[in-house]
Formats: sequence, C-alpha cells, structure tokens
Amino acid sequence: MTTRPATVGENSLYQQLRGHLANLKLTASAEALPSVLDQAQAEGLSVTATLERLLAIEVDATEARRLAGRLRFASIPTPATLEDFDHDAQSGVDPALLAELGTCRYIETATNVLLIGPPGVGKTHIAAGLARRAAEIGYRTYFTTAADLAARCHRAAIEGRWAYTMRFFAGPTLLVIDELGYLPLPAEAASALFQVVSQRYLKTSIVITTNRGVAAWGDILGDTTVAAAMLDRLLHRSVVINLDGDSYRLRDHHARTDTLRRTTTGNRNPLP
Ligand code: ADP
Ligand code: MG
Repeated sequence: MTTRPATVGENSLYQQLRGHLANLKLTASAEALPSVLDQAQAEGLSVTATLERLLAIEVDATEARRLAGRLRFASIPTPATLEDFDHDAQSGVDPALLAELGTCRYIETATNVLLIGPPGVGKTHIAAGLARRAAEIGYRTYFTTAADLAARCHRAAIEGRWAYTMRFFAGPTLLVIDELGYLPLPAEAASALFQVVSQRYLKTSIVITTNRGVAAWGDILGDTTVAAAMLDRLLHRSVVINLDGDSYRLRDHHARTDTLRRTTTGNRNPLP
C-alpha cells in the first residue's frame, strides 16, 4: 500500500525530492523512495533512520555494481571457488595455507603465489578462486594466461602500444598468469614477461600456475639469464605450492572405472 502525500504542498515536495535523487543519479534511492516513506510511516521511523535506510539502499546498489564491474574486468575463466576446492582429493595443499591465502593478506605485502604441478591437479581452480576472492574483497584483479599475455605483448610491440600494454599489466593489484610452460613461448615473450614481473616487483602480487618446476624455466623462456632474474624477483617474497597429487580428472575417471569394474565382476571381459 502506498501512502499518498496528504497535501498539495507535500505532494510537490515529494516530487522535488524524487527529482533531487534522480538528478544526483541516486537511482536506487529514487526507486525505493515510495516504499521507504511507507515504511517510515508504518514503523514510525525518525528522520535520521529514514534517511539512513534510503541511502543504505543506494550504497548497497553501488557496491553491487562495483563488484560486478571488478568481476567482469577480472575475466576469470571458471566459476571455481576456494570453497569448492576439495582437500580430501588434493593432499599437496595445506588447507590452513589456502585459508590464509583466502584472506588476501598476501596481497597487502605484494607476495607472489606459485602453483606448480602436473595437469588436472587444481592449479587453475585455486588461481581462479584466489582471483575471485580478491575481486570480491575489492582488489583490482586480472586473470590471463602466459600465452595470451605473450600474444598481447607481441601485438602491442608491432602496433606501437608497448608502453600502454606494460602499464595495463602493471595496473591490477593482483595479476594471475595461468599455464606458464604449457606452450613454448616465442623468444620475445620472455622479455615481456620479465618486464611485467619486474615492474610489479615488491609493489603488487602475481599468482602464476605452471606445470614445470622452476629448474625448467630456462627452457620455457628460452633464456636462462632472463629466467633466473625473473625467478629472483618472483620468489623473493612468495608462497610456493606444489600440487603433486593425483589429477582430479583422473581420480574421477579412476573412481568411475573402479565402480564399473566392481559392477562387472564375473564378466568374462572385465574393463582394463
Ligand atoms: P590444472 O589447472 O592443474 O590443470 P584444474 O584446476 O583445471 O587443473 O582442474 C581440473 C578440473 O578439476 C577443474 O574442473 C577443477 O575445478 C577440478 N578440480 C581439480 N582439483 C580439484 C579439487 N581438489 N577439488 C575440486 N575440484 C577440483
Ligand atoms: Mg590449468
């Protein structure tokens, strides 16, 4: 039920107030005005309480819009979260350490996180979960892959946008670089990566996932000197997590074939 303003004067005051809110682009408050005024009357709210309720609606809407913007910008490729990471499946990660990383305190000290392990063990899952958490807390976050970063830097060099692109990768408070080492990187990619790492060094955090131990980074980057200098900066302040458990995809597969095997016991041609 909407309470109609009692008099012509009140009516025009109400219209003015709505106009002010719309003028100030307080859209959520403008929309909520009739119902908040109804609540104020029904609950006998004070002027202060009414204003607080009206503006809290605007603050919530603004926060939600900013969060959606941060998540859109972050370009996280999977809905995976830290909450749905199954610790029973992955023995290589200390749950307490993952919980600590989940607080995002490592970002305050510009600490890097290195996730090392074979395919399918949950590296991208954790990196995406950390990125999502950081964006939710309010950090500017960006998720990319090593191959994509290399390709963008390559294009930037050709199109004369190198400085701009380097600034772009320096911008986010948390940068995730997924899948380093999966694809051989072109020679110039090593210097692009090195510059990205250097300009963020001791200022902002990087989460890197890789299927190769750090000893192999010389091969990945095609240059042992650059690899060593980059590792120096990356590891100086870092958390290194080795995920060497069974692949999650394989576990699923093993579980399924185990079940199948059990249900087909006695079959003359059991599954391998
Ligand atoms: P990686 O990046 O190490 O190759 P992913 O993170 O892509 O592996 O994991 C492969 C799939 O298995 C994803 O769908 C991921 O969500 C899931 N997965 C891997 N490990 C876990 C885990 N411990 N708990 C829950 N899901 C997992
Ligand atoms: Mg991955």
